[in-house]
Amino acid sequence: MSPRPKLVLVNQRTTLPWVFEAAERVGVDIVLVPRHDEVVDPAKLPPVVVECLPLQLYTDPAGAIAELARRHAESPFAGILSGCDPAVPFVARAAAELGLPGLALEAAEVARDKRLMRERLRAAGLNTPGFVAITAPEQWELAARLEFPVVVKPANGYGSFGVTKVDSVEELARTVNAVWAQCGVELDAYSEHPEQLLGLVVEEYLDGPEISVESLAFQGEVTVVVVSDKGKPVGPYFEEVGFRSPAVLPEEVRDEIVREVAAAHAAFGITDAATHTELRLHRGRPHLLEMGARIGGGGMTHQVARIVTGIDYAAETIRILTGQRPHCWGKPIEHLGHCGGYIVPCGGHGRIVAVHGIAELHEDPRVDYAVQMLWPGDVVRPYPDWSGYPAFIMSHHDSDEQTAAFHRELDERIRLDYEDIGT
Ligand code: ADP
Ligand code: CA
Ligand code: CA
Ligand code: CA
Repeated sequence: MSPRPKLVLVNQRTTLPWVFEAAERVGVDIVLVPRHDEVVDPAKLPPVVVECLPLQLYTDPAGAIAELARRHAESPFAGILSGCDPAVPFVARAAAELGLPGLALEAAEVARDKRLMRERLRAAGLNTPGFVAITAPEQWELAARLEFPVVVKPANGYGSFGVTKVDSVEELARTVNAVWAQCGVELDAYSEHPEQLLGLVVEEYLDGPEISVESLAFQGEVTVVVVSDKGKPVGPYFEEVGFRSPAVLPEEVRDEIVREVAAAHAAFGITDAATHTELRLHRGRPHLLEMGARIGGGGMTHQVARIVTGIDYAAETIRILTGQRPHCWGKPIEHLGHCGGYIVPCGGHGRIVAVHGIAELHEDPRVDYAVQMLWPGDVVRPYPDWSGYPAFIMSHHDSDEQTAAFHRELDERIRLDYEDIGT
């Protein structure tokens, strides 16, 4: 019997099941390159993982690629994939080096840098707000010419870290300095040359509802799989709150989103990947915020796509990254149901003494996935400091109204009690 094809899966959190389960369905084995911040217990790995291969991909990418190339020569890999944004350029570089399917390195680098994304969108004539890239906090004055309010954000940030709305030019210098200091501390672990990651984008605030889009790109052709409603966050900080899928939109608005997202793939050079795009409908027109050239939410978007359309999104992602045509290609996209994602807000700060309302969700037939990430004893620092989210809940429903009602129910039922520790 010939061995199953092997897929290198980079920095996938082992607590998120979707990509591992999909590998099983596609019939590929996984060589897991663990995250540097996760201690992996080999006994608890999903059975589809045939090997755990630690690599220093951020601090020694050349060494990590040499190691992959050596193994590839001995026993070839079928592909390399990551759902972790900072790993995307490494994965592209490794794929090119090993001759595997995937993104061009340049496309991977564009999708990791909000300055480059803005420049490409503008050059392609796509919707984009006024923006300024700054490479030192003293350059804040360059952004004074923008129309206020503006948003200050790290060029290579993630998870809304440091993203701050500024209402007037008087507050700009202070916010730029604060965000600069914050990202210097937080983003270090992700590069051989962390200083190259430093840089901010200041851009005009796009008032309007937020939308996220899960797509598949195969040989340059783009299929938009799901469009989700992310509410209407107004800032000044933009903690994630969750989503409802599919977004209820007039057909012509959805069509325009599909066109804008497909055109953005072309502008960034993203030909073969799963992508997660965030946009705002500003004055009724879709404006891209950013695109990740990877499956979203560490594979969580697979669950969304499956509930809403029946598409096996994580499996399709694996097919694309192993050079196979996705099974959904060329077929109309069905609408089968509604999916909710709910992020429990911290709702305070201090040391957590109790978490109410989450344990019982495991019994709720609407709930497909409920994971608690913060527990009694954990300390939550006041926002905008980053302590993580307390819990994440995914559910399925028959309508958007039911999804919204369930989220309001969670607003009421879930509560964290804190003890003041003087933060
Ligand atoms: P990150 O990579 O940290 O997620 P984003 O660019 O996606 O950075 O910004 C995080 C959030 O901040 C967005 O989801 C959105 O709610 C808000 N945001 C960012 N830029 C803008 C903008 N120009 N106008 C309005 N809101 C914005
Ligand atoms: Ca991002
Ligand atoms: Ca984002
Ligand atoms: Ca966001």
